[in-house]
Amino acid sequence: YPAVPAGLLLRGAARRYTNRIALRHGDTQLSYIELWRRACAFGHALQQRGVGAGDTVALHMPNCAEFAVAYYGTLLAGATFSPTNPLLPTEQLRTQLDDCAAKVVVTHELGADTLASLGDAAAQRVVVHVGADPRAHAIPFPDFQGDPVDAPPIVALDLDTALAHISYTGGTTGRSKGVRLRHANVVANVLQFACWNHGAVPVVDDAGDVVLDQIGGAEDWPIRLGTGVVINLTPWFHAMGCVGSLTVPLLAGVTIVLHDRFRADTYLADADRHRVTSISGAPALFAALLESPELHRRDLSSVWSLSSGAGPLPPQHIEALTRRFPHATLCEGYGLTEATMGVTLNPTARSSVRKPGTVGLPCFDTEIKLVDPDTGTLCAPGQPGEVWVRGPQVMAGYHKRDDETRETLREGWLRTGDIGTVDPEGYLAIVDRVKDMLIYKGYNVYPRELEELLLAQSGVRAAAVIGRPDATVGEVPVALVVPAGPALDTETVLREVNAQLLPYKRLREIHLIDHIPVSAAGKILKRELRQHLLTL
Ligand code: ATP
Repeated sequence: YPAVPAGLLLRGAARRYTNRIALRHGDTQLSYIELWRRACAFGHALQQRGVGAGDTVALHMPNCAEFAVAYYGTLLAGATFSPTNPLLPTEQLRTQLDDCAAKVVVTHELGADTLASLGDAAAQRVVVHVGADPRAHAIPFPDFQGDPVDAPPIVALDLDTALAHISYTGGTTGRSKGVRLRHANVVANVLQFACWNHGAVPVVDDAGDVVLDQIGGAEDWPIRLGTGVVINLTPWFHAMGCVGSLTVPLLAGVTIVLHDRFRADTYLADADRHRVTSISGAPALFAALLESPELHRRDLSSVWSLSSGAGPLPPQHIEALTRRFPHATLCEGYGLTEATMGVTLNPTARSSVRKPGTVGLPCFDTEIKLVDPDTGTLCAPGQPGEVWVRGPQVMAGYHKRDDETRETLREGWLRTGDIGTVDPEGYLAIVDRVKDMLIYKGYNVYPRELEELLLAQSGVRAAAVIGRPDATVGEVPVALVVPAGPALDTETVLREVNAQLLPYKRLREIHLIDHIPVSAAGKILKRELRQHLLTL
């Protein structure tokens, strides 16, 4: 991979796609070159305040043009970017800002009150505010950024060790952990995905910038570099978002349309209006689009690819999407913050083989192996095991958590905590998370298999399966179900699902609930459901 700092990836794109719109957000639009020039100005502003290599800049805000400016500006200044969810409650925000030792915090109307409630802990930091009514001590974003400039600040970085990100994991299974990602990790993972998605290779141009050359033909990749349009909903405060939904599309000359909040009808109307070429997001996005009557009213013929990640896409949604978008490729991919963003992806070339229900093949320069989590030995072919990953995108380690780093990184391999199977052609399927697996009389029960059967029952809108501790057998599977209407007969559902399961996997109980709690990245929060189960 070319040895460039991650922030400089934007310069090649800016020179190539100059006046094309990079970001559109309500009435605001930023061309590629404007985004680059503003990012350079932000980088200089940080440098003038003495912020650079070894310092952390926290971005505490939702997706917006200023987020992108501050993100690239931070990287260009040689500082480390650390994103925080703007809706984090006070104590979690305090913990995260202390953990990454943020010197500067860029906040936004949405998170400014929580930040202000930190009192001294906020006042000790430089606070930059996006939007109207900055709080006391905060510097309005335009004043901090200053006038756009053409050249980035000059910084010397050791790309193999300098940290580009301290990204926090989604916190689905426990307390969220800071993941240390070097510039080399971020550059590698951006190029792995941008090249794969667009049939391209990275080249270094005459000015020394990395750009993509599309070598794949139009029959396989009908949307050429510099012509794509997407609506972005993945939060950039999640690693998956700012790598996969910001830099990867920008490197390919895609225009990113931002929506403040998700509404299926608005999303579909805009997809029609902007002639969106790709729909990507978590399975919850696709579930909501499939429920909207607008899906069949809008002209979505411009969409040539659908990509889903972050969680399993249920088989009936795969079928329904394939029916609605017969000409589009549907690619499920898999990744985790500890691997910057992505590990595997179903191939996007139209003529290649995609296997629904799998998360595809390892991306370039990435190896996976399946290991028995109990014995640490390699699994026999066809057997499920913990997915271990090796590649240039694997993190340097957890921030200030050496024990967990030692536990997770083993001789260059990353233990993902996910159980998978690999078919003879190398396609990976994710079975479940190790932490969500139940053990019934010594047998492993994977809740996802049961959830898929529940979702296939008519009248079930959403479902999650967790274990109830049982003194005799270990754990028994229990389902929490959101009904689609008032008349769901749980006895019938229980019977239908159990008829399809081996005895040790059978569900013991079904409880109806109003909604299934999900994280900001759209993942089911099973630890909250376990708490809820205690109250039933
Ligand atoms: P924490 O590690 O704090 O519990 P988290 O696991 O949600 O949080 P992320 O890095 O946000 O941290 O999510 C990565 C996880 O998401 C993977 O380990 C895997 O369990 C799940 N995942 C990602 N893509 C897929 C997919 N296509 N199918 C199934 N699961 C997926």
